This record gives sequence, structure tokens and C-alpha cells, in this order.
Amino acid sequence: MAEVPNQNPSVGRILHYTSYGTPGGEYSKECRAAVVTETHGSDASGEIVSLAVLNPGGMFFAQRCAQGDQLHGEHPPGAYGGTWHWPERV
Ligand SMILES: [Zn+2]
Repeated sequence: MAEVPNQNPSVGRILHYTSYGTPGGEYSKECRAAVVTETHGSDASGEIVSLAVLNPGGMFFAQRCAQGDQLHGEHPPGAYGGTWHWPERV
């Protein structure tokens, strides 16, 4: 699992949502800013949260997103589209 702060996501905090890339690679997975709208406890992958995802061209609401790995740095296999992670340190 990714490096994570010793804390849990809570409503109103900003996380990263990993967008889905296209299978052909026309679009790659990207980190998008996302505001936590609801928390749903945890499962084996981590915390489950619902998010307001802020894309450059608009926003959408994603329900019950699982926790994944960070997208940047090592590109770990758990950086799946549709998951959230703590913002990478830059
Ligand atoms: Zn990120």
C-alpha cells in the first residue's frame, strides 16, 4: 500500500482521485483533486470514500471509491483508475 499519513480521510478534505486512462493509451491515468463528500468505513484496501472529483473541464461525483496506491513516483500496480490516494509529495 502507498505511503499514507497516519490519519483517515474525512468530509471536506482534498484527496487525489486516479482517473481512468483509455485502453489504447490516448489518455493516461491522471491525478485529479477530489473533495471527500462521505466516508464509508474501511475494507482490506483501506478507507472507502465518496468524492466530488474536480476535473479541469468539469466535476463529477464518484461513490464508494476504494483506496489505491499513489500514481506518481513508482507507478505501483495498485494505482488503478477509480481509486483515491493521498496527494503525492512534490
Ligand atoms: Zn496523486
